[in-house]
Amino acid sequence: MKSSRQLSKIVNIFLHIIALVFTYFLLQGGSLIIESLPNRHTQTQLEDYLDKAQLDALDKSLDASNLEAETLSFNQQSVKTELKGLKDVLAIQQQNYKEMLASRYVTEDNQSNRQVEQIRQKIEQGRVAITEVTQKSNQLKQQLLQNQQTRNQIQQEIQDLKGEARKVLRQEQRSNTLKAFLIRLLFVLPLMAIAVFLFKRFRDSSYWPFVYGWGYFSLYAFFIELVPYFPSYGGYVRSIVGIVACFLVGRFLIHKLQDYLEKKREMEQRDEESRRSSLQNNERNLENSFEKIHKGICPSCDRKFVSPDNKYCVYCGLCIKRECQTCNTLQVSFNQFCFECGEPHREVQENEHSEEHAAEPNDGINSSPPTPSGV
Ligand SMILES: [Zn+2]
Ligand SMILES: [Zn+2]
Repeated sequence: MKSSRQLSKIVNIFLHIIALVFTYFLLQGGSLIIESLPNRHTQTQLEDYLDKAQLDALDKSLDASNLEAETLSFNQQSVKTELKGLKDVLAIQQQNYKEMLASRYVTEDNQSNRQVEQIRQKIEQGRVAITEVTQKSNQLKQQLLQNQQTRNQIQQEIQDLKGEARKVLRQEQRSNTLKAFLIRLLFVLPLMAIAVFLFKRFRDSSYWPFVYGWGYFSLYAFFIELVPYFPSYGGYVRSIVGIVACFLVGRFLIHKLQDYLEKKREMEQRDEESRRSSLQNNERNLENSFEKIHKGICPSCDRKFVSPDNKYCVYCGLCIKRECQTCNTLQVSFNQFCFECGEPHREVQENEHSEEHAAEPNDGINSSPPTPSGV
């Protein structure tokens, strides 16, 4: 997948684009399927679970009670006004009565006796009227109290009705979420499984853009179409998935690191020649080796050179630079040909030589430790 040849570079860029475009079309096709899957957002409303007729009846009786309360309050107000008026009149009459009595003593007028009697009767009538109106007021008070109780009861019933509906709605929502999640899981899991299989098997094959495209697609499906649907159960599922995912990724990385260290240790056991040949046994390895040397890293043990002028890695003894056998120019030991005189280097000749005489034993020119000529 990596190559320094110019055309390969350009084609690689296009292949990356193809991987993305491939992902895009997979997503377009996938979204048609995903749209038909149960959705978190198609949730039912509270109204769907309410007994409409019952609620309407309750609302109506509440309205009626409210109206009654208004009327009662209004009546109570006018009764109060009436009572106040009566009391005022009574007070005036009582005052008159007192004054008349006083004047009667003084005048001893028989005519005034009748007037006194009239006023006394009026006062009596006023008292009776006040008693009646007070009773009326008390009655109204009682009615208002009853009305308040009725209204409270109706409101309570409405609350209960809604509470019941809310409970049913919540259960329904929970089971809907779970259903949506499970169906999506059934859809996304095979995608992920295929992606893992393809990635393990074919990530380095020539068809890698499709492997990567499928991988992006399944990651998208996982994170965008599945993760938001994880049922929460108070956050337990999410934490458990998070913990398991961290553990799996961590374990994978730890194993990778151990494998890598094991591989390097095993490599360091081998002699320089065999290491060198595996570091340049194909185009990719060779280019990797050049790249590492360019960055100042030993391609065999991956440690940094002590000094850029080092001819050998001081950790593993790999020959990094040596002189051309023909013109003695110092250069990277992995060069296949001298950049100065163009002569093929020893391994190239050696490889050709050993291909011709594969059965013949090694003549020892390249045996370790390396002894480059002219040093
Ligand atoms: Zn080294
Ligand atoms: Zn040369």
